[in-house]
Amino acid sequence: MAMQRLDKILASQNLGSRKEVGAIIRSGRTNVNGVAVKRPEQKADPDSDVITVDGEILEFKKFIYLMMNKPVGVLSASRDPRVRTVVDLLPPRLRRRGIFPAGRLDKDTRGMLILTDDGAFAHRMLAPKSHVMKWYEAELDSPVSQGDILAFRRGVTLGNGMTCLPAELSVLREGEHPLALVKVREGKFHQVKRMFLARENLVLSLRRIQIGGLSLDPKLPEGAVRELSPEEVSLAL
Ligand code: URA
Repeated sequence: MAMQRLDKILASQNLGSRKEVGAIIRSGRTNVNGVAVKRPEQKADPDSDVITVDGEILEFKKFIYLMMNKPVGVLSASRDPRVRTVVDLLPPRLRRRGIFPAGRLDKDTRGMLILTDDGAFAHRMLAPKSHVMKWYEAELDSPVSQGDILAFRRGVTLGNGMTCLPAELSVLREGEHPLALVKVREGKFHQVKRMFLARENLVLSLRRIQIGGLSLDPKLPEGAVRELSPEEVSLAL
């Protein structure tokens, strides 16, 4: 990285908006190579200078990885002039240029969504050959049969003749509106709904609860988002 303004460097590390980090710098909480710096426009090199805020050394993060608990009614897209998207839900300090949802959830699907500006990571997480399982809870109109479980295991053929890769199906709750757990490793358009449709069943509601080894944080309310630790990022691959 080349020399950059200090306020730009701090903002890029999600320490606040340009205005907020400007105030942090002016209040004398930032040091560069051990020297207090109070001018936001002062330049520094994130690669070679040691920059601290409140005594904490900034470890420069190249990419950002967020977990969102997506609510129903929000579009999984970067920006849309007409409708609210998941990027609109991000607080300004996490809204980086180039951030996008890694894999889409339908507008009426809830649950775990990862947003990042790391295209290579998203590709690895989504590519069927990476075998990263996406786990969904599906509330259904009709009971799940043994035939459904076997058909999912073999690979369901959708209404248009397209065949899905083998998937796992199990029953979490029986009753009037059974709850099923589905694990798929690809992301065809409306895939889970179309898999059940091919088995003459209807998905009433759908929630993604896990990607690879990373579960939806139960403490994350719907609509909320938080940064993932490097360990969590590797669990999603
Ligand atoms: N399958 C669906 O049908 N919809 C989703 O949003 C995700 C998987």
